[in-house]
Amino acid sequence: MSNVIVGIDLGTTNSEIAVVRNGRIEVIEIENGVPILPSVVGLGEDNTLLVGAAARNQYVLHPERTIRSVKRRMGEATRLTLGDKQYSPSEISAMILLRLKKIAEAHLGAPVHRAVITVPAYFSDAQRQATREAGEIAGLEVVRILNEPTAAALAYGAQRGASGQAKARKALVYDLGGGTFDVSIVNMEGDVVEVLASHGNNALGGDDFDRRIIDFALDHLRTVHGIDAETAAASPTAMARLQRAAEAAKIALSDRPYATLAEEFLFEKNGAPVHLSLEISRHEYEEMIEPYITETMDAVHVALTGAHLAVADIDEVLLVGGATRTPMVSRLLEALTGIQPHGEIDPDLCVAMGAAIQGETIAGGATPTVLIDVTPYTFGTSSLAILDGREYPYCFVPLIRKNTPIPASRSEVFYTVFDNQDVVEVMVYQGEAPDALDNIEIGRFKVEGLRKVPAGNPIVLDFSIDINGILQVRASEKKSGLEYAITIDNAISRFEEGKLDEARGRIRSMFGEDSVSDEAAGTAQAGSQAEVSPLGHRRTVVEALALIEKAERLLKTAGADDREDLIDSMEAVRDAMAPAATGDDTVLQQAMGTLADVLYYLDN
Ligand code: AMP
Repeated sequence: MSNVIVGIDLGTTNSEIAVVRNGRIEVIEIENGVPILPSVVGLGEDNTLLVGAAARNQYVLHPERTIRSVKRRMGEATRLTLGDKQYSPSEISAMILLRLKKIAEAHLGAPVHRAVITVPAYFSDAQRQATREAGEIAGLEVVRILNEPTAAALAYGAQRGASGQAKARKALVYDLGGGTFDVSIVNMEGDVVEVLASHGNNALGGDDFDRRIIDFALDHLRTVHGIDAETAAASPTAMARLQRAAEAAKIALSDRPYATLAEEFLFEKNGAPVHLSLEISRHEYEEMIEPYITETMDAVHVALTGAHLAVADIDEVLLVGGATRTPMVSRLLEALTGIQPHGEIDPDLCVAMGAAIQGETIAGGATPTVLIDVTPYTFGTSSLAILDGREYPYCFVPLIRKNTPIPASRSEVFYTVFDNQDVVEVMVYQGEAPDALDNIEIGRFKVEGLRKVPAGNPIVLDFSIDINGILQVRASEKKSGLEYAITIDNAISRFEEGKLDEARGRIRSMFGEDSVSDEAAGTAQAGSQAEVSPLGHRRTVVEALALIEKAERLLKTAGADDREDLIDSMEAVRDAMAPAATGDDTVLQQAMGTLADVLYYLDN
């Protein structure tokens, strides 16, 4: 075991160490079950050396005794002060490496002498040399300095190996960490991974997102509680709490449409305590970070140009770095490339895993496979939105995308469409098609008794899938907390073994596409084509919505008796609309006929 070559991701914010044992990759736990070591070095009260979380926690109170982000200084001929001594950046990095080495030795029960250490693709020779030197100071022979995007590609390559799809591909590796961003284009051919071009900004990352949330909170504290910026800055402890709360809110907003910053006794004003309680919506948050994300998308173009490639040449998009969990990142990357980005390997750990794979290859072992439990299907709901340029009530809204590691949970906010709408029907689908009716309906339920308020009442929908593939869908009215839920057992295996294709085939056959299986032919014959086809139904619903829209316009000027008739017939159309998703439209068409008659009468 002492022949082992560990893989180390020596990051700006965090570092990780991984190893391959018995053909399996292990990312080694640092403390409390967490495999991440903050890249922070400090001196404690009694001059003891602190590396990791303890050093990070004391930074706010003792910045003079704490060093963060030493990676940014690597290769510089500078000295960094720690207490009353001075150190080179390589020496400080060596303290982090030594801590990792010791943890690995304790974990493996054997000494560790050799390591692969990763660096950003843009690192110069001097920066690489300084990294190698840091390893040597820590007592490690650095057998390879590996580019981070290459490491990520190796980890994903090992995962593909597991599903047997290894072939030459070009990947875009998008790496957004706490304080740095870079994007690389890599060519993967067999075992060889080559970085073709890289671009980035080593002063951009998730920390900037935190800062925008802090500014948002400070604005609120100023306008509502009269706490000015000076008062705030004069209390480092309060600012540290605010920073932690902002980061927690940011992380929550990756899975949920709202987050609350709640800190009691944060400041004091005229002898009275000031509490912070502030809700932030994902929408507001995304507006704040939009300029940063746009900058990263521009960098993608620069990297592509550098590699003499076009967006269409990219086969896959790999996500690296904790901040890529921000949904806006994958959303915009997907819009740009047309490819759903891979995030199934933990973006914080995938570089260390790739380094360990490289280490194992150098040590003469076989490439291990990375096995991850992911959901093979996308789960979502339907909502009124624009499809093919028209308002359409069954637009598919994915909540848990396929290839998401399980367990997983995601929530989104939806809004009621009509004034006084006291019920919503939640549809649950499995599939990928933008038109929800082309996907497989796996459940539905009603949320009744909503408050009678104008349209736009927020309803939060929460999807969570556990390791056994049990999907729970919960809907709650945000303002009242009224809640309904369903559990769908075995959501993942439900359509395995070709059943999904069968179901799709059935739907397609209704459109007159493809050959029809016996079963599908039976379904199609069950009613006339126009009545049962989702396409026919869709047209009817679009017409129904147009009628309702017209009715709402006329409602404003109609007399009392006519209003009553109008409201009754509008309600009848609405009632008939939702449950008719795949069935017979006769009732809906009758209701529409009645409403059309009332409208005709009012119009003339
Ligand atoms: P890294 O440097 O790769 O460890 O990334 C750290 C950054 O990722 C920090 O800014 C974290 O706050 C951020 N981060 C971690 N988890 C999430 C999450 N779920 N959503 C958004 N940002 C996250």
